[in-house]
Amino acid sequence: MVETKEFKAESRRLLEMMINSIYSQKEVFLRELISNASDAIDKIYYKALTDETLSFEKNNYYIKLTADKENRTLTISDTGIGMTKEELETNLGTIAKSGSLAFKSENELKDGHDIIGQFGVGFYAAFMVADVVTVITKALDSDIAYKWESHGANGYTIETGEKETVGTDIILKIKENTEEDSYEEFLEEYRLKAIIKKYSDFIRYPIKMDITATKPKEGTENELEDVTEEQTINSMVPIWRKNKNELTEEDYQNFYTEKRFGFDQPLKHIHISVDGSISYQAILYIPEKTPFNYYSKEYEKGLELYANGVLIMEKCGDLLPDYFSFVKGMVDSSDLSLNISREILQQDRQLKRIEKNLTKKIKSQLQTMLKNEREKYETFYESFGRQLKFGVYSDFGANKDMLQDLLLFYSSKEKKLVSLDEYVTRMKEDQKYIYYAAGESIKRIERLPQTELVADKGYEILYFTEDIDEFAIKMLMNYKEKEFKSVSASDLELNEEESKVDPKLEEENKDLLEEMKNILNGQVSKVKISSRLKSHPVCLSTEGEVTIEMEKILNAMPD
Ligand code: ADP
Ligand code: MG
Repeated sequence: MVETKEFKAESRRLLEMMINSIYSQKEVFLRELISNASDAIDKIYYKALTDETLSFEKNNYYIKLTADKENRTLTISDTGIGMTKEELETNLGTIAKSGSLAFKSENELKDGHDIIGQFGVGFYAAFMVADVVTVITKALDSDIAYKWESHGANGYTIETGEKETVGTDIILKIKENTEEDSYEEFLEEYRLKAIIKKYSDFIRYPIKMDITATKPKEGTENELEDVTEEQTINSMVPIWRKNKNELTEEDYQNFYTEKRFGFDQPLKHIHISVDGSISYQAILYIPEKTPFNYYSKEYEKGLELYANGVLIMEKCGDLLPDYFSFVKGMVDSSDLSLNISREILQQDRQLKRIEKNLTKKIKSQLQTMLKNEREKYETFYESFGRQLKFGVYSDFGANKDMLQDLLLFYSSKEKKLVSLDEYVTRMKEDQKYIYYAAGESIKRIERLPQTELVADKGYEILYFTEDIDEFAIKMLMNYKEKEFKSVSASDLELNEEESKVDPKLEEENKDLLEEMKNILNGQVSKVKISSRLKSHPVCLSTEGEVTIEMEKILNAMPD
């Protein structure tokens, strides 16, 4: 006989495991409880859409936090749908039971709605900071209120409770500080405000707190008094959900500063709103100044990632390629599959797609800037051009198409930075190559004997003054089918002069050349007579792929 049995879970152990291992930070308990409160209000909102007897007056719905230091309690109240006795048992008495997920399927809410809950574990995050959790709730259409209480592992009690209005109060008895952990900070006004701002700023309903401030007493000269007033802490409507033409340059600037993306003024913002198989909104910024640690290992790229307006990750690196690591900003999507802690994503396929899309937008924005706002672009290039060149060099040139049009180099002719496209457009008819010269500085390159011959032909030369330049160009290999050539290469192919050295001259001076090579004692591989010198008596040139400048850099690199 085959017996079918149910798995038994040791709820106590499960709860303990959950509480201590799901979340990386204790403070997220508030994010979870506020999300639940917001869901509870949303449920009334959605019910009212189909139920004529119900009207949804937006002003009547809010979430309120009250901290009582004396009694060490923090109360999160909402005017949401509340819970019946049965719902208390199923939703709070069963780990991994999500009433919100059930609500979504029962009401056949389409994608893009705002209900956040899905896993049925967030509520228990309260036990990370509280010894006792008390829930007093009155459901819509119910006359009786109930009180649910739990000390965590040992189960819970339910009895009738006292509550006049529909909604739920969650009362947390905050733990006492231990030597390792501090809990009482969760009773501090400033701390609670900061957590709300960080995770729940864009919850659609007001999150209120009574804030006490010391102010000059009215009608007196310099007497002070403590005034308590109710304030809404969250901004509710996220700027990225607003219409672009409702927003000013200043709004974007303020958001940048508020979010501490940087201390500078961003050069450009990019506001993206995509509705498709994966929908998301994003606001990206091109900063003006290089962050102090930008070109170091300490710098961490990434964008803020929100799911339905709730912050999931502060720095999501997967949203940006390395070569655009300077970009700041945020992405909000309602289509992400989150893992249970809602801190990481279950699969990165969705992220990959967003990243690809963002990358294209950033590129086209930079290209437009280069075309229409040259000065701005040069400021940008001054700060981050090196990163673009690193991008060309890394991944064996895989990012060539994305980056080659964004590069600038100093031009011998224009005496300023030019793009490769500008160079190629100006090329002389008989000119085969894009010529470049590498050196420490523009001044030094100008004095190189090698540049003389090429410049005399009337050809433009790009000056490479950064270590990475020549390496990057070697990866590009060509631009618009024109190959790059170093002016110190032995085969400059300037047609006429190059090969016109009389072999007899070589023969006659054979001993002299041999002697010179000996004196240089292995530092050169060949000494030969050349026609490429104009006003200089001698120059060094290379054969093969590696130029003198590259050799210097390679030699200076630690092994
Ligand atoms: P989730 O939010 O993922 O569903 P939670 O553990 O956070 O999981 O919450 C479990 C369930 O308890 C919710 O789905 C909801 O049905 C119910 N619930 C929690 N908090 C409230 C609240 N403030 N008002 C009404 N119902 C709530
Ligand atoms: Mg929840």
